[in-house]
Formats: sequence, C-alpha cells, structure tokens
Amino acid sequence: MRQAMADAVVGDDVYGDDPTVNELQDIAAETLGKEAALFIPSGTQSNLCALLSHCGRGDEYIVGQWAHTYRYEAGGAAVLGSIQPQPLDFLPDGTLDLDQVTRCIKPDDPHFAKTRLLCLENTHMGKVLPLDYLAQARDLADQHQLRLHLDGARIFNASVKLDVDVTEISRHFDSVSVCLSKGLGAPIGSVLCGSVELISAAHRWRKMLGGAMRQSGIIAAAGIVALSGRGEHLRRDHSNAQRLARSLSKMDQFDIDLSSVQTNMIFARIQSASVPTIIQKMKDQGVLISGFGDTLRLVTHCDLENDGVDKVTAAFKRAVSS
Ligand SMILES: *Cc1c(COP(=O)(O)O)cnc(C)c1O
Repeated sequence: MRQAMADAVVGDDVYGDDPTVNELQDIAAETLGKEAALFIPSGTQSNLCALLSHCGRGDEYIVGQWAHTYRYEAGGAAVLGSIQPQPLDFLPDGTLDLDQVTRCIKPDDPHFAKTRLLCLENTHMGKVLPLDYLAQARDLADQHQLRLHLDGARIFNASVKLDVDVTEISRHFDSVSVCLSKGLGAPIGSVLCGSVELISAAHRWRKMLGGAMRQSGIIAAAGIVALSGRGEHLRRDHSNAQRLARSLSKMDQFDIDLSSVQTNMIFARIQSASVPTIIQKMKDQGVLISGFGDTLRLVTHCDLENDGVDKVTAAFKRAVSS
C-alpha cells in the first residue's frame, strides 16, 4: 500500500485532474453499483456532503439516536445545513422500527419541517442489517417520497457477514458513504457513491467544506489497494473477533452478548474493574482499546498477527488480575 502511494500518478483534484483519484472514484462507483463516486477526506464529511445534497434548510432527516451521523458528527447537518434531525431509538438489532419511522414522517403542513430523508447505518455497532429489512425501508421511502442514505462506513463487513456482493446492500440506497480507513485498511479517506446528479451536488459541498484537495492521488492510491482487495481479510477479522469474544466470555469479569458479535466488533461489559483502568493496563501491554460507561469496545483489524487473539487474551487476563 505504501509503495502504491509512492508510485501514484497525481494531478490537481480540485480541477478533477488527478488520474489516481479519478480511478478510485470509478472503482468505487462500479463496486457499489452507482453512477458516480466522490473521494472525501473523512466519513464525517462524506455523510455531511450527502445530507447537504439530499436536504435543504428546513428539511428533516430521520436517523437513529446512536447513529454516527446524528450523535458523533458534532451536529454538522443541523449546524451547517439547517437540517432538522428526527432521532429514533434503535431496535436491539441495529434497525429502526419502520412503523415508528412512518409515524414520524411529518404531513405537508407549515407547522412542520419537511421530512426528506431516512438515514440508516450498516453495520451499526458491528451489527448487520437484514437484506429484507433494507427492501422494506426502500419501499417505505418510495411510498413517502423520501430519499434513503446509508452510512456504510463498514458496509464491506456487512456484505462479508451476509456472504453477498456489496451491491445487494447498496442497491436499496440513493447514496452510500463508505470508509476506506476502517476495516478496509487504508490510512485516510471515504467515498460517497450515488447518482451523477447527487455526486455533482456533493462535489460543490465538499469544496465549501474545505475537502477538495490537490495531489490527493497519493492517498487515493491507498484507497484503490484497499477497495480492490474488497477486504478479503475481513473474514479473518470476523473469526478473530469470534475467538476473542469466546475466550473473554469464559472469564468471570466479562459479560458479552455473543449474538451481537457479528463482524469485527465486540462490546464487553466489565464488572470487576473500571473501564479506564482496564484501558490503561491494556495500553501498557501494547493493546489499544476504547470504552464508554461500563463497556469496552474491541475491534479486530487486518494487521492483527496470527497469534494476536491469544496475546490479547493473555493481556486481558493480566489486566483483570493485577
Ligand atoms: C468511522 C465512522 C464514520 C465517520 O468516519 P470518520 O472518517 O471517522 O469521520 C461514520 N459512520 C460510522 C458508522 C463510522 O464507523
């Protein structure tokens, strides 16, 4: 990947002249089964460009309470787009209740914001949305003239888990944002995929948000390597997560819902010690993890060595016993 970056042919992408960026965008559009794609520095900016392209001032989008676009992106859609969020609680499987979605679509009435967009996330906290659910969400959107956006930061984890081509997921959506820098293993960047019309609107927003870059072929080259492999290592990441979850759940200190371990993420509740203490003790042993409340968030990735799961398990044993 580093070699591909060093060898990248570059131009000025602000003028659309960087051949490596153009190639990445073509590969992304083709892979996701969309007309066009845009290379964007981060997933946050990619989701924001999508929301700004779908919705105008005074419009509304329906979104999950813990969705990245709503909760973890500093309120960008509201702050910069004057787009009102309508957050709903997620069901335990990472879906939104479509009856509840239907009930909160606002009638065309001057009292209300104009409901314009439904935004889903796949995977959500490592959980994969069922394909028939996506079809139902598409039907709902069509019935109510809503657009449908997918925060597909980890969409390849979902397609590998379901053992389907990624287009079986993306085809239900008007736009899909994909992180190259998560499971796929590139250092930087996301791609937003959709119709030519949507992507040309997003192109203008990306400029306004400061995300148009010059010789960005250097980082797009890494994205090409990541995307062309289509995450062939993801299967291994998922089985590593399974193994790690099973080893940890044998230890008294951890409480893990194994049915929620579907891809490369594990959420482990810990009883005996405080989460910051465990995080520090693991960091001292060279294992970086994050957490919130009483829960540790563990993610397996493509650079984990073969004995990585055993090493991490041993490190946890030391961390909880010392
Ligand atoms: C990481 C992530 C994003 C945002 O990506 P950044 O590149 O960190 O801005 C959006 N949605 C989900 C579900 C993510 O996991």
